[in-house]
Amino acid sequence: MKYDITITKTANPQPKPTDESKLGFGKIFTDHMFIMEYSAEKGWHDARIVPFGPIPTHPASTVFHYGAEIFEGMKAYRAVDGSIRLFRPMENVKRLNKSAERICLPLLDEEGALDAITKLVELEQDWIPHNEGTSLYIRPFIYGNDPHLGVHAVHNAVFVIICSPVGAYYASGLKPVKIAIENEDVRAVRGGTGYAKCGGNYAASMRAGQRAEEKGYAQVLWLDGVERKYIEEVGAMNVMFKIGGKIVTPMLSGSILPGITRKSCIELLKDWGYEVEERLFSVDELFEACEKGELEEAWGTGTAAVVSPIGHLFYNGKDYTVSNNEIGPLTQKLYDNLTGIQWGKIEENKGWSVKI
Ligand SMILES: *Cc1c(COP(=O)(O)O)cnc(C)c1O
Repeated sequence: MKYDITITKTANPQPKPTDESKLGFGKIFTDHMFIMEYSAEKGWHDARIVPFGPIPTHPASTVFHYGAEIFEGMKAYRAVDGSIRLFRPMENVKRLNKSAERICLPLLDEEGALDAITKLVELEQDWIPHNEGTSLYIRPFIYGNDPHLGVHAVHNAVFVIICSPVGAYYASGLKPVKIAIENEDVRAVRGGTGYAKCGGNYAASMRAGQRAEEKGYAQVLWLDGVERKYIEEVGAMNVMFKIGGKIVTPMLSGSILPGITRKSCIELLKDWGYEVEERLFSVDELFEACEKGELEEAWGTGTAAVVSPIGHLFYNGKDYTVSNNEIGPLTQKLYDNLTGIQWGKIEENKGWSVKI
């Protein structure tokens, strides 16, 4: 079921950025946004695309006090054949609904949500940058909006989609990052909201991220919340290791975000004949592999960076170098294939690259 979307175009279109090398991430936004409200009585209603701008919100709104917020992150790509493409967009829509279910926000009609994303991107297509590696980042989000302080399941909510032209993540090639393993703070626990893409998980992760940055590390590698022993994910990316020819990645235990890039990498790796183990993987086992010289490559996976090679791992006062602090051949191959599919340089028969 598609939502009935009305479109009001802006009277003041903004100039598109001229220097695409300075785009960065999420700093500028396109001319329009999608917005739709939910109420227990009316369901989702008033779907509309309107000029981009502030959303007046009641000071008692649920989102401000109880963190009722979930989001998605996806991209529209200007493919080499001139078409505009999304990458496995239905996966994002389905995950948005799974996140909604976890924190009691109203679910969306999947076909309707994908149609809203597509209509907005279609309208904003001139904002998709042209340089190699650039794209239009799409941020759909839902928040609870009941105008009173009582704690209960949400009766009013808002679904919004905004878009931001973003620069190439790797302006000067895929550079390995330094990762600090966090053994104090935890991001999520099983039974909590770790598998949901919700703002609250990010609030919990800020402090460790800041501490790692102060020590010169780009991101945090999270350990499980119970034993501080099993590897979960890195920052806002899933993580994979190549050990003695096999691929090991933490299993989806409930506290880990089920990344679409993770899933896609696993599918590609299996296609290429690799054994992929999704299982509990302890930090001790990781460093045993390091010491035996069996850790060949390590990388993070996520929509923003696609894959991010790990060059250093810091744990308990020691810094380990991974694959000579260089990008490994398999990490590079994953990057080339995924970006090849996303930008339509590689034809695939999986239906991942969706033209709009
Ligand atoms: C979004 C996200 C990821 C990556 O998911 P993708 O679907 O691959 O972009 C991983 N971890 C966290 C915590 C995230 O929020």
